[in-house]
Amino acid sequence: MAKTAPSAMPASLAALVDALQALPGVGPKTAQRMATHLLQSDRPAAERLGQSLLGALHRIGHCARCNTFSEEPICGLCLDGGRSEAQLCVVETPTDMLMLEQTGSFQGRYFVLMGRLSPLDGVGPSQLPLPQFLEQARRPGLEEVIIATNFTPEGEATAHALETLLQGQGLSPPLRIARLARGVPAGGELEYVDLGTIAQALRERRPLSPSPESPPLPPKPLSLKQP
Ligand SMILES: [Zn+2]
Repeated sequence: MAKTAPSAMPASLAALVDALQALPGVGPKTAQRMATHLLQSDRPAAERLGQSLLGALHRIGHCARCNTFSEEPICGLCLDGGRSEAQLCVVETPTDMLMLEQTGSFQGRYFVLMGRLSPLDGVGPSQLPLPQFLEQARRPGLEEVIIATNFTPEGEATAHALETLLQGQGLSPPLRIARLARGVPAGGELEYVDLGTIAQALRERRPLSPSPESPPLPPKPLSLKQP
């Protein structure tokens, strides 16, 4: 009877390699390379990584209002009295919120879903903090919800579900529900933009007059013929 060969890897190293595979996009080989690098070439970095990971795990929870990561019960952005209560922007992740914030062009409130609907990954409506989202949607003074989930199939499905959820609440006065527009990127040349994006930019075109603040035209089939 063949004996089971002893593992070439110490048990604690095997556990580390296994743990590193929890990171997105990291498979067994990459995890082994990372573990070897940390243990052999950069032990101080490995110690910092371990301590900061434990520190973050112990200190960081979710903001009771917007659901983003926070060390306090309510995050700094939600406590900022200078923000508008009239707009609520819904995003998938804290990174998405940071990206929007860095544009400096939004002064309202946020809600972070910490995910999106993804039936293939077992994420259904009950895995998303929808009751907490509805609580924010019912706050006095709110006029508009801007759905800024990603333009992936899952992000689109989530946007549709949020829209349906809000419409079914019978909120009074009814909220304006908006979706982030899609279009040609800033500095982009049409020649290098994919056809799907160009088609979307045509559907979501906006008039240049009388005011650049005018709402976008409703989606309509386009006629390329001159009138
Ligand atoms: Zn918050």
